[in-house]
Amino acid sequence: MSHTIQDFLKACRVCPRACLVDRTAGDLGVCGMPDVYRVARIAPHLWEEPPISGEKGSGTVFFSGCNLRCVFCQNRDISREGIGDLMAEDALVERIHELLNQGVHNLNLVTPTHYTPMLARLLERLKPILTVPVVWNSSGYETVESLRMLEGLVDVYLPDFKYISPELSAAYSAAPDYAEVATRAVLEMYRQTGEYEEKNGLAVKGVLIRHLVLPGCRADSMAVMKHLASILPPADIRVSVMRQYTPDFARDCPHRNLHRRVTEFEYSSVLEETARLGLMGFSQGKEAASKAFTPNFKKK
Ligand code: SF4
Repeated sequence: MSHTIQDFLKACRVCPRACLVDRTAGDLGVCGMPDVYRVARIAPHLWEEPPISGEKGSGTVFFSGCNLRCVFCQNRDISREGIGDLMAEDALVERIHELLNQGVHNLNLVTPTHYTPMLARLLERLKPILTVPVVWNSSGYETVESLRMLEGLVDVYLPDFKYISPELSAAYSAAPDYAEVATRAVLEMYRQTGEYEEKNGLAVKGVLIRHLVLPGCRADSMAVMKHLASILPPADIRVSVMRQYTPDFARDCPHRNLHRRVTEFEYSSVLEETARLGLMGFSQGKEAASKAFTPNFKKK
């Protein structure tokens, strides 16, 4: 396994960016992270969807850096500025044990994609002793080859599916191939976990796909829902339609539509389309769209 990790990181092709930089020598690609974990936050988190947060919280580990770097990112101090502490694997395992001892409902790895081979090794170590599900909370911009390393190690996939339009994904995430890549990724996730299941109101396996509705992009959001319903059995997955977009983090970007909030009409029409397609899942209250971000997810 460690040989495979070195192979991946020496000419990095862990994600679709395929930067081919030598992360073991400290060279950095688009994600901005070396071959050592940099972790921004390890704590129980109550603001995820109800079957992820439950009453006691989700056990989140927020990794610094990101391979997608959207212009409107709401976590840019973590994803772009690389805030966080460098941490060896043993230290991270110890912190995860402390987190799990707080009674959280799952281990939730947030923005983990650029560390996939390393996390596969860490999960192989942890999985036999874990009593809670492992959640992989990603942008969806990841390769099937990397995802296959996680087979049997991840219980619940929680990916985004951000765009269909190559123009939008090129403009906002510099990834014109986003929809193609995310399509292959969610199909692989579904192949690994099968249909979504909850026990006692908590997600125990399956794929829950998030989509953030962006201002001025209603048609693309509806196309995302249509696409998801066409590639996966609607009854077997869950979707989370998010309205928490806030322009506070996109004021300096040139896309003027991103300088405002999502309207009631935009959000509700995406929800209507989601329901019409037979997709089930979660929506957010209006109060979610604030910089303070206290999202209120509701089951549809
Ligand atoms: S993980 Fe980082 S360095 Fe590697 S290919 Fe992706 S963006 Fe580039």
